[in-house]
Amino acid sequence: MSGVLDGQGALVTGGGSGIGLATARRLATDGAVVTICGRSKERLDAAVEELGGDVHAVVADVTVEDDVAAAVEAAASAAPGGLKIAVANAGGSSHMGPLVATGLDEFKATVDVNIVGMFLTVKHAAPHLVRNAGGSIVAVSSIAAAVSHPYLGAYGVGKAGIDMLTKVAADELGRSNVRVNAVRPGLVDTELVAGIFATAGVLDSYLTQTPLGRAGSPEEVAELIRFLAGPESSWITGQSVSIDGGHSLRRGPDYTPFAEPVYGADALRGIPPSPT
Ligand code: NDP
Repeated sequence: MSGVLDGQGALVTGGGSGIGLATARRLATDGAVVTICGRSKERLDAAVEELGGDVHAVVADVTVEDDVAAAVEAAASAAPGGLKIAVANAGGSSHMGPLVATGLDEFKATVDVNIVGMFLTVKHAAPHLVRNAGGSIVAVSSIAAAVSHPYLGAYGVGKAGIDMLTKVAADELGRSNVRVNAVRPGLVDTELVAGIFATAGVLDSYLTQTPLGRAGSPEEVAELIRFLAGPESSWITGQSVSIDGGHSLRRGPDYTPFAEPVYGADALRGIPPSPT
């Protein structure tokens, strides 16, 4: 036992890598009994080995209700104090490209992993927190929820949905001392955005729009999630907090160097590519 979260159960979805892994590490450092979930067992096993200590893992897809219910149950029963913290971190985008060239399945999959993933996490975790006299849910949104990212439309919609779910869940659950907040990271150096770091034109468009002039680290985001998960933020609920080096003060990134070679200039101005 080592800190203010001693014995508290915490579920981190998508906890096998990136921001989720850094969050699992940060919560465990303060004594939380952390359960991580994700779709790949290999990734989870490697993360558990890296984290060491009292960390558990469950294979679960956040878009599948039975999976989320099982992950929540596992996280609750792993901890002597029951479930007190849920971090709805799993998310991402199945697609990059102009709206007129976005397949319906790709759009739906992106909305699903972000919005449905958070919805199911709240739906199944909240009753545990309520029965435990309260707790904290933190979702991982994005600056794309608030600042237009052309050619990343489905993702922005998914993250904007997370921000509204955060408000509604906080409003419904406040009476039971359950707080619900979100973080809105800017560009963070993880596997998810390796393509951005490898494409100078896109990376530059991020950095020139970021007053602090650099990308963030998973650990910096994990520190904010830890703050929102713990007692230090006891009177904060329903908020989406930006952590982006100031990027959201300016404009979104330019994905043209990704999109134009794939879809062509016409598609970028709204004319769908002809079927091949
Ligand atoms: P990673 O790709 O490292 O992490 C995403 C994790 O989520 C993986 O461990 C993945 O594991 C898991 N995951 C993906 N889909 C599912 C699913 N359907 N069910 C369960 N787990 C899933 O990227 P990040 O750490 O960067 O991303 C974490 C969150 O941060 C995401 O919500 C992302 O949108 C958000 N974000 C990231 C930013 C960045 O610049 N990196 C900026 C703003 C927001 P597996 O594939 O094994 O399921």
